[in-house]
Amino acid sequence: MPERPELPEVVQRLIDPEVADLRVVTDSSAVAGGAMRVIVQARNAAGATATGGEGTVSLAAMGPDGHSNAGKVELRRGVGRADITIPEPGLYRLEAVTEDDARAVTDPIEVAAERPAVQLLWGDIHSHVRERRAQALISDADELMGPPTIEAALEWARDVAGLHFAAVTDHDLKLTRREWEQTIEAARRITDDGRFVAFPGYEWGDSRGMAMNYGHRQVVYRRSRVRGVEPLPLARCCDSGTTTADGLFSALHSAVPLDDVLVVPHHTARGGGNTWMNWDYYDPDLERVCEVYSIWGSSEKMGEPYPVRYIATGGYWSTAEARGHHLQDGLARGYRFGFTGGSEAHDGRPGRPLIHGRDLIAEWEVLSPPGITGVWATDLTRDGVFDALRARRCYGTTGARIIVRFALGDVPMGGEIAAGALSGPAELRAEVTGTAPIRSCELVKNNRGIDSASSPSESLDVEFSDPAPEAGDYYYLRITQTDGEMAWASPIFIT
Ligand SMILES: [Zn+2]
Ligand SMILES: [Zn+2]
Repeated sequence: MPERPELPEVVQRLIDPEVADLRVVTDSSAVAGGAMRVIVQARNAAGATATGGEGTVSLAAMGPDGHSNAGKVELRRGVGRADITIPEPGLYRLEAVTEDDARAVTDPIEVAAERPAVQLLWGDIHSHVRERRAQALISDADELMGPPTIEAALEWARDVAGLHFAAVTDHDLKLTRREWEQTIEAARRITDDGRFVAFPGYEWGDSRGMAMNYGHRQVVYRRSRVRGVEPLPLARCCDSGTTTADGLFSALHSAVPLDDVLVVPHHTARGGGNTWMNWDYYDPDLERVCEVYSIWGSSEKMGEPYPVRYIATGGYWSTAEARGHHLQDGLARGYRFGFTGGSEAHDGRPGRPLIHGRDLIAEWEVLSPPGITGVWATDLTRDGVFDALRARRCYGTTGARIIVRFALGDVPMGGEIAAGALSGPAELRAEVTGTAPIRSCELVKNNRGIDSASSPSESLDVEFSDPAPEAGDYYYLRITQTDGEMAWASPIFIT
C-alpha cells in the first residue's frame, strides 16, 4: 500500500483541535423581543474551527442597563448556535463566556423598539469552492480544509460565518454546465426567507487566455430562473460571443431583465497577470456595484493601508498597484457605482477564508483580512437584499461589522439627487457605530478628502457641509478605526 503523504504543515495547523480563542457573532439589527441568532465558534491558533471545543457557553447582553443573562449555547465540535431575544431596545453587545472563562464579545447590535424600515444585513457575494489541489495529497483532511461543495460552502456561510446572504461565484473557465445547474440548485435549496438567502453566480474573466485585459467580474443573479422559467445564462469568457466584456454585457442585456442581474468588477487595481479592471469597458445598468476590498486588498485608490497584492511564483507579493485601475479612476469617469466587500474565499468558506485552496497557503499570514458587504435591506429575502445592492444601499468593510449610515438629507448611501433639488449647501450626515474607536471618518468628494471627523469612542454622529455641490459631484465615506479595520460607504451622486 502506498504510504500516505505527509499533510502540508498549513493543513496540520488547520485541523488542530486545540481551542485558542472564541468568536461570537450575531445580527447587527434586531427588534426588541424578536428572535436573534447567535453563533459561537471555538477557534484554533490558525483561526479554523477547533473541533476540541465542547461545553456550555453563557451569554450576557451588555446594554444601556448593564449586564443581563441572555441564555446559553452548547458547543459541539467547536460550534454552537442558539436563538435569543433581547427584550428592551438600545445599543448592545453580547458577551460569551465558557466554563473555562474564555470570553468573546460581539460587534454592536442595534435593538429597535419596532421593526425598522431597513435592517443591516451582512453577506459575501464573492467566493469560490473549486480551487483545490490534487485530492490525493489532501486525502482525509480535505473536509477540514474547507467545505467541499457549493451547498456545504453556503451552509458554512450561514452556520459558522454567520452571514445573512452569500453567493458562491466559481471561475467560469472551470465551471461545466452541469456544475452551473448544481450552483443554481444549491442556492435555491438553501434560501430560507428571514434566515438566509443565496444567489446563483459565477465569475467571468481570464488571467492568461483570450479574455484577459478586461478584468474579473462576478455575475450574480436575483432568481434561479429567468422570468421564472428560462435557464439562467452561463456566459463564459471562453464561449464564443462572450470572450470580451462587451460580449458579456450584450449577452446579459438580451437574456435577463436588467433588474435581476449584477456584474461586479473586483480587485480592479491588481497589477500582475493582467487581472486589473479596464475602465474602457463598463456597463452602467449591470455594474451597479464594484468590490472595494477583499483578501487581495483595497482597490479604492493608490496608497491604501491595504495595498493590492497578486500571486507571483513562489508566494504572494505586495506589488506596485496598477495605476489608473482603481475605483476612483472609474468614478472620475462619471460612472456611478456603489461599494461591496468580498472575501474572495477559495476554500469554500465565504466570509472567512483561511487558505488559498489551490496553493494551500495560509491566507491569514500573507494576505489582508477578508471583506464583507453590509446592505440596508427592507427584509431578509432575495428581493430585499438584491434590491438594496441594485440601489447601492450597501458598503464594504475589512470584515468588522461596523454599522454605517450615510445620507444627504433623506437620500441614503448609493442614492442620487438632482443638483436643482438642492438649495444651498449639501448637508451630509455620517452615523457610525464601530467595533473600536474611530480614528477617522473622511468625507471624500470627487476623490478628494474634504472633511474628516474622529471619535475616542466607538460611536460617531457628524454633519458635514459642502457649500457648493454641482451636477457630477459625488461624496463617499472612508472610515478607519484605531484597530485598522475600515469601511467604505457607497457614494451619493449629484446629477
Ligand atoms: Zn477574480
Ligand atoms: Zn474570485
